[in-house]
Amino acid sequence: MAFENLTERLSKAMKNLTGRGRVSEEDLRATMREIRLALLEADVNYDTVKKFVANVREKASGADIMSGLDSAQQVVKIVNDELTATMGDEAVPLNKSPKIPTIIMMAGLQGAGKTTTVAKLAYKLKNEEKARPLLIAADIYRPAAIDQLEILGRDLEIPVFSMGTDVNPRDIVRAGLAKAAENKNDYVFIDTAGRLQIDEELMQELKDIAEIAQPDEILLTVDAMTGQNAAETAKGFSASLDLTGVVLTKLDGDTRGGAALSIRDVTGKPIKFVGQGEKPTDLDVFYPDRMASRILG
Ligand code: GDP
Repeated sequence: MAFENLTERLSKAMKNLTGRGRVSEEDLRATMREIRLALLEADVNYDTVKKFVANVREKASGADIMSGLDSAQQVVKIVNDELTATMGDEAVPLNKSPKIPTIIMMAGLQGAGKTTTVAKLAYKLKNEEKARPLLIAADIYRPAAIDQLEILGRDLEIPVFSMGTDVNPRDIVRAGLAKAAENKNDYVFIDTAGRLQIDEELMQELKDIAEIAQPDEILLTVDAMTGQNAAETAKGFSASLDLTGVVLTKLDGDTRGGAALSIRDVTGKPIKFVGQGEKPTDLDVFYPDRMASRILG
C-alpha cells in the first residue's frame, strides 16, 4: 500500500512553510488550498475534506504560539493529528461476548472480500488466542462462495458449517448456531450473501439473520479501491443494519487513500481491520495513527 500521490502532495504543500519563523495568513491559505486539493484528488469525501481543512486551519493559525518547533514542523504535526482523528484516533478492538460464542456476522457487497475476510479473521483468532471458531456458510446465492469457504476452512483447519444452497439462510444460521453450541465453539462467523448493489431483499435477509443470531459484531467489508464509494456503501448498509465496524479490504491495491480517510467520518463506524493481500495472514488491526504516518510518508 502506498498513497504516493497523496503523500507527495501533502509534503510538498507543507514544505512551503519550511524555514519560516511564523506562518503568515497568506502562506497558510496557500498550504491549506494544496492540502484540500490533495485530499479531494485522493477521493476523500467532500464534507470530510471541508471539516479536515477547517480544523487544521484553526489549529495552525495559532501555531506560532508553540515554541521549540519551526512552523512547518508544527503544521505537519497538526496535519498528522487531524489525519489520525479523522480515522478515529484509537484502534477499536473486536467486541467479545462475556460467554461463548462471540458471534461475528459479516456483510458486504459481492466481491468486496467478505468470504476471504471471514477466513483471515478466524485464522488470526485461532493463531493468536487458540480460538476454536466455526464458520457458517450462509451465502446460498453464489454457490462458489460455499465451496470457497469450505476450501479455506480445510486449508486453515477451521470447521465450516454448510447446508448447501437449497436451504433458507435463516435456517442455516439457526442450525449453525446450534452446532456451535454443541461443539462449544468460542467464535462463530456468519458469511452472508453479497449483492452487486444494496437491495431490499438483501437487506431484509441480513436484518433477519441479525435478529436470529444477535451478533456481537456486524462487520462490513468494503473495498478500499472504491474510494469514497466505500464510505457510501457503509452508509447504505448502516441504514438497515447496526454495523459495529468496517473491514477495509484490498488496501494493498489502493493507491489513493480516499476510503480509509472517509469511512469513519461519513459513517461514524470504526475501521477495525484492514486486508492487505490475498493470503490468510494478510489481515491487520487498523491503527489510525500508523495509517496517518504512512500517509504522511
Ligand atoms: P466476497 O464476494 O465479498 O465474499 O469476496 P471474496 O472474499 O470472494 O473476495 C473477492 C476477491 O478479492 C478474491 O479474489 C480475494 O482473493 C480478493 N481479496 C479479498 N481481500 C483482499 C485483500 O485484502 N487484498 C487483495 N489484494 N485481494 C483481496
